Parts: sequence; C-alpha cells; structure tokens
Amino acid sequence: MIDLTGVSKIYQIGTVEVRALDGVDLRVDDGEFVVVLGPSGSGKTTLLNIIGALDTPTEGSVSVGGRDITEASRSELFALRRQTVSFIFQSFNLFPGLTALENVEFGMDVASKRGVTDPVSVLTSVGLGDRIGHFPHELSGGEQQRVAIARALATGNPVLLADEPTGELDFRTGAQILELLIEQASDNRAVLVVTHNREISRIADRVVEMSSGRIISDGPPQGGKTPLSELHW
Ligand code: ADP
Repeated sequence: MIDLTGVSKIYQIGTVEVRALDGVDLRVDDGEFVVVLGPSGSGKTTLLNIIGALDTPTEGSVSVGGRDITEASRSELFALRRQTVSFIFQSFNLFPGLTALENVEFGMDVASKRGVTDPVSVLTSVGLGDRIGHFPHELSGGEQQRVAIARALATGNPVLLADEPTGELDFRTGAQILELLIEQASDNRAVLVVTHNREISRIADRVVEMSSGRIISDGPPQGGKTPLSELHW
C-alpha cells in the first residue's frame, strides 16, 4: 500500500543543508499498525507529509495505493490527498464554526464521499452519538480528537496517518484514541502513527525508529506486541 525507496528530503537554508530525510526505504501493507518513533527533529513529520502527498521528496520514489506519487500530476496528487489518505493531527484541526456532524460531513464532501457512509453512525461508533450538534469549543480535547478521527474514518480512505494523535490528551483518553486506531488496522487500513513516546510503540505490529532522518530499526516492538490495557505513560 505504501512503498518508499531511497527517499531523501533536503532543505537548503542559506548555506546550510538540512537532511530531514536521508535515504529512507519503507513498505507498509494494508492492515498494518505501524508506529514511527523518534525524537523531535528526526524526520517523522516530514515522512508523514511525503506519504500524504503534502510534501515532495528531493530524491527517491514514493508509491501510495499502487500509484507512484513522485510521477503524479497535480490533479492526481489532489485526488490522492482526498481519496486515499486521511490525516489526524495532534491539534485536531477542526473547523470551529462547524458542529461535530458538520466537520465530519465537510471531510466527506472534500473526499467526494458524501452518501458512502452515514456520518451520524461514524460519530456514534467513536462514542459521540450524543454530541453531534456540539461545536468544537463545547467538547473536551479527547472528544475533539474523536471528531477528527470520525472525519478521517467517514471517508473510508485506506491509509490513515496520525501525527502525535494522543499528544494533547491524558492517558485514559489517549488510550481510547489508540484503540480506535488499532480497530482501523483490523479493518485492513494501513495505519501509521507518529510519536516520540516509546511506551505507545509497544502496541504496534511494527516499530520504525528514526534518528537524524534515517530509519535506524524496523521490526516488532522490543519485548513483543503488548495489549493496550497494559500500557502506562
Ligand atoms: P520530527 O517530526 O521528527 O520532529 P521533522 O520532520 O519536523 O521532525 O523535521 C526534521 C528536520 O527537518 C528538522 O531538523 C527540522 O528542523 C527540519 N525541517 C522540517 N521542515 C523544514 C522546513 N520547512 N524548512 C527547513 N527545515 C525543516
């Protein structure tokens, strides 16, 4: 589903060259729950943005859903962003003037998926059936993140990219969010979660560890995959 070969991203700032990504090879299959782990500045967000076609690599090839996006036209990239990939951000990125339901419907409109799924049932499935008419400021952080997840899920897009999705949340709420993401992988989506929190990586099928723009390890979590209920952070 996702295939990166020899991907580098170089920023030139004056005379200084920053290698945000440096020769990354990565393959993620449908149904895999992958945690990308690394300290701040290691290239995690750049990696996610390149997979989601929000940014382009300086070198290397990137294929998402069988399509080489480094060769794609602007309109093909636009379609990929709308119809293949869904993003979940640490800061939720909800529209403040839209209700929970309207935020989800807006996401479906952008992806041309209105009518494919019932937005109310998606909000109900993330535990917000009684909050659909609420505006973001009337919801807790965890509830806002669940609206953002519902918006990502309602499109039915097969690739789910989450950048520090539990960063703003307390442990119990964060665990609920992770449970929803694990379910998405069980539903045969490719799920990539970026975090600097090693504890979260224990629940993954695979942990891709980054340092200075490179993948320094890629495999099952140390000590094996741990049930969410045994996590502490
Ligand atoms: P992470 O998500 O792991 O914190 P990032 O992918 O955001 O790391 O950044 C990786 C490196 O690339 C950092 O050194 C960062 O300063 C640099 N970087 C990211 N975006 C830009 C940009 N637009 N211009 C210049 N340097 C950037």
